[in-house]
Amino acid sequence: MDHLRDVERLFGDDYGILTFTGENIRRRLSPAALKRLDQTVQFNEPLDEAIADEVASAMKDWAIENGCTHYCHWFQPLTGATAEKHDSFLNMDGEGGVIAEFSGDMLIRSEPDASSFPTGSIRDTWEARGYTAWDPTSPAFISINGGERTLCIPTAFVSWTGESLDQKTPLLRSIDALSIQAMRILRVFGTDKGVHRVQTTLGCEQEYFLLEEDAYQARPDLRMCGRTLIGCDAPKGHQLDDHYFGSVPAKVQSFMADVEARLYALGIPAKTRHNEVAPHQFELAPLFEGTNLACDHQMQTMSVLRKTARDHGMVCLLHEKPFAGVNGSGKHNNWSLVTDTGHNLLNPNDKGPGHLQFLTFVCAVVRGLDLHADLLRATVASAGNDHRLGANEAPPAILSIYTGAELERVLDRLEAGEMSDFKHSTKLDLGTSAMPKLERHPGDRNRTSPFAFIGNRFEFRAVGSTAVPAWPNAVLNTIVAQSLDDIANKMESKVTTDMDEETRCHAIIEVLREIYSEHKRVVFNGDNYSEAWHNEAEKRGLPNLKGCADALPAMASQKARELFSTYGVLSEAELEARLTVLYENYSQVMQIEARTLLRMINTMVIPAAIRHQAEVAEAIAATDAAGVDPASVRGRLTDLTARLTDLEVACLEVESILESLPEDEEANIRRIQDEMIPAMNRVRSNSDAIEGMLPDDLWPLPTYLDLLF
Ligand code: ADP
Ligand code: MG
Repeated sequence: MDHLRDVERLFGDDYGILTFTGENIRRRLSPAALKRLDQTVQFNEPLDEAIADEVASAMKDWAIENGCTHYCHWFQPLTGATAEKHDSFLNMDGEGGVIAEFSGDMLIRSEPDASSFPTGSIRDTWEARGYTAWDPTSPAFISINGGERTLCIPTAFVSWTGESLDQKTPLLRSIDALSIQAMRILRVFGTDKGVHRVQTTLGCEQEYFLLEEDAYQARPDLRMCGRTLIGCDAPKGHQLDDHYFGSVPAKVQSFMADVEARLYALGIPAKTRHNEVAPHQFELAPLFEGTNLACDHQMQTMSVLRKTARDHGMVCLLHEKPFAGVNGSGKHNNWSLVTDTGHNLLNPNDKGPGHLQFLTFVCAVVRGLDLHADLLRATVASAGNDHRLGANEAPPAILSIYTGAELERVLDRLEAGEMSDFKHSTKLDLGTSAMPKLERHPGDRNRTSPFAFIGNRFEFRAVGSTAVPAWPNAVLNTIVAQSLDDIANKMESKVTTDMDEETRCHAIIEVLREIYSEHKRVVFNGDNYSEAWHNEAEKRGLPNLKGCADALPAMASQKARELFSTYGVLSEAELEARLTVLYENYSQVMQIEARTLLRMINTMVIPAAIRHQAEVAEAIAATDAAGVDPASVRGRLTDLTARLTDLEVACLEVESILESLPEDEEANIRRIQDEMIPAMNRVRSNSDAIEGMLPDDLWPLPTYLDLLF
């Protein structure tokens, strides 16, 4: 993509210095090998294995010149993190010495232990074999950890039985499926000349919190769970809106600059940085890229954020909801479709047939979301994200599409059987002579929508900040591929080449208006946080799946299984395994939270409260002995004691649920969501009330005030 070349120019020699791309690769490969590799990277043509040895050897030389002694296959298992198994380049030379060696075979394939990663039910612990396979379309890079440098090779991870055990494989398959169907649409419109492939683009806006390392270390909940489990509100939250886009504190600014330098070296085009809504909350957004690369880059970005924060004496929290009562963090997923000739298929300014083609892609998204709102909702379901979705701060758990007024008008005309061009931006006069007149977009923005059209792309805003973006994107691509398939079937049967332009247009409009009419219930341009919308959505029959226990089972539906198997994205076994992993993950995360909470209450909160209880009791006796009525002090003791009793009761509830969680996965997470979390909330509310009663010097934890201000 051209803008990436611009970035290379802009950031000079350091841009991508740690990736095996550009000059790093050109200087070392023969023209023939370079051409073949390029064919794979640019046009997704099958890799010519004959060049693997040459590429491997060049990669090794480059890595060693750059201080690497080891290489690893870098992959994304279903843990939600990345994994790497390091091997050194060292090998015997057969004459009693050693040489540095890296062959094509070693580049293409490696064999990590598959049973040590979550596999759902696909593999038992005694069935260990699994492979990682080189993804030549995502550049190898050098990671630096504590000064040590390792060559990392992006790979897919599959079981010996051939099933995918990772995030990358279904994503790549979904991009292929989408490309095939999108190309059919281009052929209907005759815009396929010179186009080999359609792919999706992705720009992830990453929100995060930064905390001082000391404060973090003093809170077991942050260390164990990445979020605070108790903590009474600070007197100030973000009521004054004084943090968003505010000037960045100097320490954070230097952290951000360091993050960016590290990202540039990795060829990751970080672009935007700013304060977010909550105190100590920030955002980083890159320039968009092809989705596979963007997903790999996103995983690296999260890791760079965490490591760099540590180097600056801080901790980066990527959790969706580190603090109750202040804004949580998301990862807005900006998604579009682009041809390999660089044409954005969601550009509303295309004229004539191009305009109808744009509307075709929009209708495919509308149809896909309407048919699979539950499934897309499931892709963003996690224990952490449950705190955002459905609460009144982030997009709700009801998936709807915001089109904006202008696109809505155009779609309404379409439904009436007419074609109406997109109105262009207008000028905004600020009313002072010296200021330039501003271009105004044809549509406003909607911050409350979970899925919004914003000018030339859709922004899926329900994605959580810790999310691995490959999964929601794989699903989004697949549901859109299915809709494009359906639309292409209809168009191909109704539109023929011998038709004149006008008849063709009419035939196409007929197809689209039917689709839009049938699925437009998923379009909503109002305030998604309002009570009225929740009622309206229910009337429209849109699912409102509030938590993981409600949302995840959508993955087990017949509809989902058919979708994934039809487009070759996930087999039934792969899908089932994925769901099992998600159930297990939710259950484990919540059990860890519950145990951490109980530990903190029993070893920190209750002992502090009892100390204070004794102090107050003594004060009552002393006041009484001094001949003064101790009523007000006694009131304090009564309140504190009542809270302590309620706290102990709630803790016992949590404990007894923890001890009796059902084996069955679905029942297990249902019990956690319906019973354990409410009990944990009761623990919290009593603990927070006690925090508000105890003297500062007795409270054993850094408070919200200490952490956030
Ligand atoms: P916002 O105003 O939504 O906060 P940002 O500038 O923070 O916008 O982020 C917008 C993101 O959208 C960036 O990562 C940007 O590269 C990405 N983006 C822009 N155009 C496209 C596109 N065609 N496809 C995918 N992502 C895009
Ligand atoms: Mg943003």
